[in-house]
Amino acid sequence: MEVRVTDVKKWVGREETVPLEGPWPEALAERMEWPIVELSRASVRLQNTGHSVLVALSGDVVVDAECARCTRPFRLTVPFEGTQEFRETEPGPDDDWERYAADTIDLDPLFTDTVLLAMPYAALCREDCRGLCARCGADLNEGPCGCAPPADDRWAALADWRPKPPQPPG
Ligand SMILES: [Zn+2]
Ligand SMILES: [Zn+2]
Repeated sequence: MEVRVTDVKKWVGREETVPLEGPWPEALAERMEWPIVELSRASVRLQNTGHSVLVALSGDVVVDAECARCTRPFRLTVPFEGTQEFRETEPGPDDDWERYAADTIDLDPLFTDTVLLAMPYAALCREDCRGLCARCGADLNEGPCGCAPPADDRWAALADWRPKPPQPPG
């Protein structure tokens, strides 16, 4: 993924928004837990600040996720948003801009970081997903499985509790 900055470089203050296109980076696909299906509303905003080009990526990435409770596959749409400053000079150790050369900025590293950061650690197929029965493994979204309801174990810890013998003073 890359973007041409030929026009935006022409004068300070110039802004431009273009669609974010191209194959997503292989490095990203390898690090994703779930396969990417497509991008939607994905765009790149470029801004000439005078000494740098500010790049802002945003959009939605659609993935084939797996529900953390019932393990069912489902389509998940994850919004992403990330910005990075680019200059034509080499950054020092304390600088947080990236270098670009000529009229093209490589968006692969920024896009990879942005999408990985946006991905949730776990996802549910729906907020009230009932998950799987801990005993028989049945999908409880399809109805009760017939197992006895789990015992209320809130008092189990108390059942094992014994008072400590009094400590001798001193
Ligand atoms: Zn689920
Ligand atoms: Zn069951």
